[in-house]
Amino acid sequence: MKIHNYSAGPCILPKSVMEKAAESVVNYQNTGLSIVEMSHRSKEFVAVMEKAVALVRELLHVPLDYEVLFLQGGASMQFYMSALNLLPLNGSAAYINTGTWSSKAIKEAKLLGRIDEVASSKDKNFSYIPKDYAVSQEVSYLHYTTNNTIFGTQFKELPKTNARLVCDMSSDIMSKAIDVTKYDLIYAGAQKNIGPAGATLVIVKKDVLGHTGRVIPSMLDYQIHIEKESMFNTPPCFSIYTAMLTMEWLKELGGVTEIEQRNKAKAELLYQEIDTNPLFRGTAAIDDRSVMNPTFVLEDASLNDSFLHASIDAGISGIKGHRSVGGFRASMYNALELESVQVLVDVMKEFERTRG
Ligand SMILES: *Cc1c(COP(=O)(O)O)cnc(C)c1O
Repeated sequence: MKIHNYSAGPCILPKSVMEKAAESVVNYQNTGLSIVEMSHRSKEFVAVMEKAVALVRELLHVPLDYEVLFLQGGASMQFYMSALNLLPLNGSAAYINTGTWSSKAIKEAKLLGRIDEVASSKDKNFSYIPKDYAVSQEVSYLHYTTNNTIFGTQFKELPKTNARLVCDMSSDIMSKAIDVTKYDLIYAGAQKNIGPAGATLVIVKKDVLGHTGRVIPSMLDYQIHIEKESMFNTPPCFSIYTAMLTMEWLKELGGVTEIEQRNKAKAELLYQEIDTNPLFRGTAAIDDRSVMNPTFVLEDASLNDSFLHASIDAGISGIKGHRSVGGFRASMYNALELESVQVLVDVMKEFERTRG
């Protein structure tokens, strides 16, 4: 039976990419070596790294005054590292709190300076994106999370501010077109649209670095990673190689503008069912709901288990909701096909027919 993988992350990657990645683990391009047992200084792997960086630049139209890095430690390490590199000693920054990940980013940044939580949607269990807030002219930057993977909300517009923007894009990067020039720093764990876990993408504007007056440990210093072209220490070679394959797949398919249309079509199909099927209800404010991670509940929670089993019987994997929202979450990253969404919608329709 075909499995429809709705996992929130690590998540579905294209089948053709998995096949090429598997091949490379056994014998990388007829070198007789595996991609996981070859030197990161070899000409083969240096070419992989260069290609991966070039693909990020091409797909997201990254301007030349920005650097592209592949680091380790996940988005979670970026919560601290971003502040360490951008927040001056005695400086302050503004943060918008839209859920678990923003809260964690705030917690880490607070270790380094004054953090103004300028807006929060905590009052309604993070079910919406705050829109009314003021950001002081004094702050070094405004940090926000573009897509809230757990609560199923997503910024549809840039925050209205003149402040420099720092952004956690872990769960919607490469899912749509973005204007990189609007941001000073973008970071994203790879495991939600870019590739397997292990690599973290950072896109940083060069001229914002080096002004904090802090002593920065080497591993946490963007400038050192820039100088060493993401090879200050051994990079996660397999993860970066597979990310490169995934980006090649995305480019062949038509790039971020094409995937944006496909992602919208998937979201419309599922939300249409959530909105019209009387057994289900979406949990996020309609204007703010996520194209990547729709969250929804059954009006009658006693039916949760039987719906979950009906979906599993149809080959659907990974739709149990996060414990902080309950119900269901259907993460629909780039590689999930419209056909898989139709399978879920059909299960929901059938559930209404038999249980409604
Ligand atoms: C998954 C996720 C994270 C955590 O990423 P790690 O790579 O596991 O540290 C952070 N922010 C967002 C928005 C996420 O979706």
